[in-house]
Amino acid sequence: MNPEHAPSYWAETAGSEPTGVQTLAGDRRVDVAVIGGGYTGLAAAYRLAGTHGLDTTVLEANRIGWGASGRNGGFALITMGKVALDERIRRWGLDAARRSIALGVEAVEAVRDFITREHIACDAQPDGSFLVAHRAHLAAQLQERARLYRETIGYAGVEYLDRARLERDGVLRGSEAHGALRTRDAFGLHPMKYVRGLAAAAMRRGATLCERSPVVRWRRQGGDHLLVTPTGTVRARRVVMATNGYTPEGLHPFFRGRVLPATSNIIVTRPLTDAEWREVGMLTTQVYSDTRHLLFYWRRLPDDRLLFGGRAGVLNTPRGLRMRRRRLEAALATKWPGLRGVGSEYFWHGRVCLSWDLNPHVSTVDGDPSVAYAMAYLGSGVAMATYCGGLVADLVAGKDVPRDTPLTAAGLTRYPLAALRPTYLAGAYAVYTVKDRWL
Ligand SMILES: Cc1cc2nc3c(=O)[nH]c(=O)nc-3n(C[C@H](O)[C@H](O)[C@H](O)COP(=O)(O)OP(=O)(O)OC[C@H]3O[C@@H](n4cnc5c(N)ncnc54)[C@H](O)[C@@H]3O)c2cc1C
Repeated sequence: MNPEHAPSYWAETAGSEPTGVQTLAGDRRVDVAVIGGGYTGLAAAYRLAGTHGLDTTVLEANRIGWGASGRNGGFALITMGKVALDERIRRWGLDAARRSIALGVEAVEAVRDFITREHIACDAQPDGSFLVAHRAHLAAQLQERARLYRETIGYAGVEYLDRARLERDGVLRGSEAHGALRTRDAFGLHPMKYVRGLAAAAMRRGATLCERSPVVRWRRQGGDHLLVTPTGTVRARRVVMATNGYTPEGLHPFFRGRVLPATSNIIVTRPLTDAEWREVGMLTTQVYSDTRHLLFYWRRLPDDRLLFGGRAGVLNTPRGLRMRRRRLEAALATKWPGLRGVGSEYFWHGRVCLSWDLNPHVSTVDGDPSVAYAMAYLGSGVAMATYCGGLVADLVAGKDVPRDTPLTAAGLTRYPLAALRPTYLAGAYAVYTVKDRWL
């Protein structure tokens, strides 16, 4: 893998790398080693060093923010995994379902807090996200979902907007805009600026950050963990695994077969003209996704470009990537025919992380409380990874963490027949493509 950043719009517009990041040189001993320098690892390091006073070193294989954290859509959302709200109520009970929504709101608040407290200039945009019914019959489902949130869960931060209102209020137009669920607690940001801001904040709190420092071997040495990189070793009493969609299968036996990386792809257009934005009908910079199973997500960037993304693809061959770029450009033109031919100036992809039970998890590995992990955000990790970084820090520091939802009450389970994970993914994509097109 190329250790430099993906050639994204974000990498090009983020400004300079944070100062003070090192590459591991020689051998050192620490209280806690964190593997992975994205939102999870950096938020964990911030709390481990800053709140718990532990000597903490982050080891990042590539550049800080190289993973999904530096290349995502930048939507800070209350989403916790992929289990639908009615399913949560049915399977987990009302209290845990309510808590999962409250926790999502806390996660978005955690991002806001970081931005304010640590003065992170990351182009935060106005509040709100829209989930848009891309077919007429799905509008009724969104209305029902709004009712569930408000009346059953007691969360008043959502409202349903019908098609006429979407158009009238400058929210959205087009043949795939049949109504939308607006969630108040959400906003867009510049993901690379945000991750660099977290990195700088973690260093100010006393954490050491090492990039270009991949952990290539991990073994126990007495009661400690010895993490080996090509340029040095870290001996740690405790370890936090914060590698999400880039989790290596062979580094620690617990993680074998427990997560499934999937690819998400993004294009960014040239700045659109006022006339083009009128065609899209989006006079707001709130963030959007649609009701597809393989959903599309989009937002208007501060310089009037349109960012448009979607999940697809099992193999990232050059041909596969070219097809995905064309597919995103075509989807854009289907939603708003006036944008046909606009094309894209940027295209990149990255890995999101799925789990068997469709929940993120913060826990310790079986039989060893000295190794903790936080991962599997199922494509919604800007807020959740920030939040879970703090939680996993508390866990590894020996603090009480509430076990009130599957996030913390359960751990990652191994996929049955784990070697078939790419086949599961291909199968799921085929089924979802059919459902999205015809049902
Ligand atoms: C294209 C795309 C769009 C997305 N859009 C959104 C969005 O709009 N909103 C949202 O909420 N979420 C979104 N996500 C998901 C979100 O970006 C992730 O959930 C989140 O960034 C995960 O953060 P993380 O720190 O856990 O993992 P990552 O940021 O992926 O970091 C993991 C790091 O671990 C490092 N690593 C792996 N192995 C080793 C090793 N052996 N030694 C050292 N380091 C190692 C990797 O180099 C990597 O940098 C998107 C993801 C993608 C890919």
